[in-house]
Amino acid sequence: MPDELSQEETGDGRTDVERLDKEYVFGTWSYQSEVEPTEVTGAGGVRFRDARGNEWIDFSAQLMCSNLGHSADAVADAIAEQARDGAYFAPGYATEARAKLGEKLAEVTPGDLSRTFFSTSGTEAVEAAIKIARMYTGKQKIVSRYRSYHGATYGSISVTGDPRRLKAEPGIPGTIKAPDPYAYGSTLDPMESLEYIDEMLMLEGDTVAAVLVEPIVGSNGILVPPREYLPRLKEIAHDHDALLICDEVMAGFGRAGEWFGCDVFDVKPDIMTMAKGLSSAYAPLGATIVTPEIANHFEDEMFCHGHTYAGHPVSCAAGLAAIETYQEENLIEHAREVGSYLGDRLDELAADHPSVGDTRGVGLFRGIELTKREGERVPFGSRLDKISRGNTIVDDVTAAAADGGVYVASMINTLIIAPPLPITESDIDEAISVLDDALEVSDEAMDQ
Ligand code: PMP
Repeated sequence: MPDELSQEETGDGRTDVERLDKEYVFGTWSYQSEVEPTEVTGAGGVRFRDARGNEWIDFSAQLMCSNLGHSADAVADAIAEQARDGAYFAPGYATEARAKLGEKLAEVTPGDLSRTFFSTSGTEAVEAAIKIARMYTGKQKIVSRYRSYHGATYGSISVTGDPRRLKAEPGIPGTIKAPDPYAYGSTLDPMESLEYIDEMLMLEGDTVAAVLVEPIVGSNGILVPPREYLPRLKEIAHDHDALLICDEVMAGFGRAGEWFGCDVFDVKPDIMTMAKGLSSAYAPLGATIVTPEIANHFEDEMFCHGHTYAGHPVSCAAGLAAIETYQEENLIEHAREVGSYLGDRLDELAADHPSVGDTRGVGLFRGIELTKREGERVPFGSRLDKISRGNTIVDDVTAAAADGGVYVASMINTLIIAPPLPITESDIDEAISVLDDALEVSDEAMDQ
């Protein structure tokens, strides 16, 4: 440890690790001057702790990705075993972990989705989906929606609708944004927004390769469309010879009380993207699964795409063990059951706090949208808050929750409640009582 970094000298209250991190690490999605990392030292079950002895219930599964929680020993063991048996072989070699994971994904994904391109993140899974859709259809445009996040690299940020795209604009050509199924306080009915998309596709005149959506919108506010929405969207896409791509990076692997978000609506997409819960964040892993018809197209057209770490054996071993754990521990059913309890408890919070405008979601994928004015949708701050400097009221609420021992993520006026799947009713009760206190902060900040 360099001497000049000792805590006594600088007196900044940071631990040595925090000081090193602050000095040498370039933070994600942030003004570097505002990055203030907390040193974490361990985790177990649905909790994690820091170097000062604080402990939190992980009420957002970190970035909605640690679906198995922090004690998935079978996944940790599979990683260690694979690393010892041969940590890396080039994508051209077949490894048991990757082959079996491919077979497993064909089993758990809907319809005849069966051939998987492996990568290392949700972003890359979306990049591959865009490229596959363009090459397969021979068309260029991708229609996605405003309230969406699909990744950070140029292709995936270009199809992203939320403000994080703005600094990357103009992005790649041929990306078009459509309205969202956002029912709360909105003038546009979700089902009517679909007819708008139908009209858009007609006016684009057979140039659209795919419609790309999160079946349940994640970081943009946990938007669950009406039951008939996704089936009708698929119909509209197919009427215009466009594919339906479901981005299941956040909604997948039990989060919504089904294997995938699209299963909630019984829809089988043409292409599906996955990451996060796929390995339960034990190792970086993304996947893009397609139907045999789409896969067959590439028998005779070169798929010009790939990364050194595509199908990394260690990540694939983690993915296979994670899926086996979901199955063996019946975690999808558990998420559905305990998720409905969570929904009831959030509704109680809404009844007690005037600043809770809306609670919504399914399974363990839920949101609390705040409002500044009782009975109306008046956000604290603007939709651009996530790329502006400084704290918003929603950040103050999450800070109050953290002080009380609950970690909860937030995005644009909405708290994202997405705990690890093994959470129990008593963990939920404990976290809800902390949120109950934290929401006093937004109640007090309301318009009088
Ligand atoms: N798609 C969705 C729906 C996501 O929620 C995310 C990440 N939050 C991504 C894609 C990008 O995934 P990653 O951060 O692993 O690149």
